[in-house]
Amino acid sequence: MSAKKKTPRVKTPQDIETRLLVQSRRRCAICFCLAFDTERKPGQIAHLDQNRSNNDLANLAWLCLSHHDQYDSKTSQSKGFTEAEVKTFRSLLYLWVQQSVSSVSFGGFTNEPSAPASKGRGEPVRLEVYDRRLTVWHAARDLVGKFVSTGEVDRKLLGSFGASTSEAHFLFDESVDKFLSEVYHRSFQLMTLDTVLEKIPIGDQRNKLVPMKMDNMLWLSECLGPLKRIIAPFLWLG
Ligand SMILES: [Zn+2]
Repeated sequence: MSAKKKTPRVKTPQDIETRLLVQSRRRCAICFCLAFDTERKPGQIAHLDQNRSNNDLANLAWLCLSHHDQYDSKTSQSKGFTEAEVKTFRSLLYLWVQQSVSSVSFGGFTNEPSAPASKGRGEPVRLEVYDRRLTVWHAARDLVGKFVSTGEVDRKLLGSFGASTSEAHFLFDESVDKFLSEVYHRSFQLMTLDTVLEKIPIGDQRNKLVPMKMDNMLWLSECLGPLKRIIAPFLWLG
């Protein structure tokens, strides 16, 4: 049962509801952050401050039915999700949604048809195309390089990498596109895990997430060599 007396529900205004549904793409913020579950979920609008008449967008989150239930039924004794925690999860989800939407190559929501197999691998390229391909390589090198030296994913560099690789689909072939996509997803996952692990105490949930973090760290620390090898043939000026 709820720890607080529930305020009567005021129906969420339609425009706010629409904005929330679009912003979250109906992904549950808790599922997303604790299990990297990016599936669309049947769910409900949760009022994070437990005040059901506060329909400010900042107070709302889309949660799957079971997480909404858990969130609302928390008591001061149990280790329920806190408001600050869910707000952090929500911002990470929104960041993921934004970047997946703005990017063709990451195809976060659908399995888009893949690009034709060859886009000038090993052929001389025009300077303009060369420059655009080089920008992608530099963004990847900066992101992974910083990670290797600090052990952390830099949010700003990840943003630049996401922006510069949004056209990778058209600039390279499918293998490069896939590889870049994996660099992005693993970096994003790692950044999210770092944030989430800070908030989770020792226990089962944490034990499940730590190996995921290690796996991504290992993969990212070793990805630059292979990436360089598959991008190099596209950077031949002839
Ligand atoms: Zn959920």
